[in-house]
Amino acid sequence: MTKIVTDVVCPFCGTLCDDLEVKVSDDGTQILEVYNACVIGTEKFLHSQAKDRLKVPQMQDEEGNWKDVSIDDAVDYTAQMLCNAKKPLMYGWSSTNCEAQSTGNEIAEIVGAVVDNTATVCHGTTLIAVQDVGVPSCTLGEVKNRADRIVFWGCNPAHAHPRHMSRYSIFPRGFFTGKGHKARKMVVVDPRSTDTAKMADVHMQIEQGRDYELLSALRVAVRGAPLPETVAGIPRETIQDVAETLKSGRFVVIFFGMGVTQTLSKNHNIDMAISLTRDLNEYTKAAIMPMRGHYNVTGSGQVLGWQFGFPFCVDLSRGFARYNPGDSSSNDLLRRGEVDAVFVLGSDPGAHFPISSVKKIAQLPSVCVDPHHTPTSAVCKLHMPVAFVGVEEAGCAYRMDNVPIETRKVVEAPEGMVSDEEFLKMVLTRVKEIKGVA
Ligand code: SF4
Repeated sequence: MTKIVTDVVCPFCGTLCDDLEVKVSDDGTQILEVYNACVIGTEKFLHSQAKDRLKVPQMQDEEGNWKDVSIDDAVDYTAQMLCNAKKPLMYGWSSTNCEAQSTGNEIAEIVGAVVDNTATVCHGTTLIAVQDVGVPSCTLGEVKNRADRIVFWGCNPAHAHPRHMSRYSIFPRGFFTGKGHKARKMVVVDPRSTDTAKMADVHMQIEQGRDYELLSALRVAVRGAPLPETVAGIPRETIQDVAETLKSGRFVVIFFGMGVTQTLSKNHNIDMAISLTRDLNEYTKAAIMPMRGHYNVTGSGQVLGWQFGFPFCVDLSRGFARYNPGDSSSNDLLRRGEVDAVFVLGSDPGAHFPISSVKKIAQLPSVCVDPHHTPTSAVCKLHMPVAFVGVEEAGCAYRMDNVPIETRKVVEAPEGMVSDEEFLKMVLTRVKEIKGVA
């Protein structure tokens, strides 16, 4: 008899959908079907069932040949590497649970590492802006139940967060939004004609990299002050119409993505977007929210915040926490040659970092902890395969609106495989032995 596991949380994107149902075999070892998830979420569950999945750690020698090693050897190599380095980089942390993140941070403190997460190349600028000007935000539940004016700025949820619009922002009928999408107005700001933009009531096809100007122009239009004929390629009348549309709503939410966090002006764009949100609160209720990508990048910022006071780029190499994005961020450290070992967990910098940084990782003692073969594991000296968090291991994750959600274990991991947290606890014990720490 097969069984259905209900209320499963999808460990893929920051939407962290918690209504999945998964059909598993009667012995609880195989996933047979996944219901309610989008295509990316479904793949995450089914991928764990791959027949050719790597199950034992592998080390790469000087000639690039891989050989199997035991978990004890993998633990010892990782602990020795971290203890022998003057300034190791411990990067990633966005596709794992808060329990593993916390254990990793404890290791980092003992060995004097720099801890950084994927925000360093996505919403780190958002975190800086929030520190600058604060943030009027809300939960996705409030969006579903109250929001009738939705702005997507520099993001494409139709592809990157496929159930965001159906669960929270556009289509659902909530307590005060009983007509669903019919009563919502959708504005998209994007230089590209994306699938999200094609669904919008208004698509402002902004000129690339001119977000700061258009955000400023909207602030001007909200106050009814004069504007030039066009701003960032958008006609004055369109800007004024959008400003009126937002002001006339009962609840405005601005969602924004890397199209605005990583373009010209970076954190200053977000300062301006937050200021626009604050201005709109003079006329109606308004909130703003980043579209966080990895399912627990938000949790990594939270855990680092509890433990060291800063959400990313935390440099512990002097025995206390320092935070200086642009200096203590992973790519800056790698390209300046300031780190002498690299530990990666819950991310794939081999696929996302500039090639100059990836080449540096390939030259250093390095460990990649990941269930998959990835471009990062291909350049690291040790690849430690682990159980899939959220599929074969439970634990806490934070949704993009900072709501913590307990993910569920759906099936058992293959025999002998450990989770991220278990591996890190073994490394922590070994690090303490080497360092003589109680
Ligand atoms: S929208 Fe994101 S969290 Fe929801 S099922 Fe798809 S990948 Fe998973």
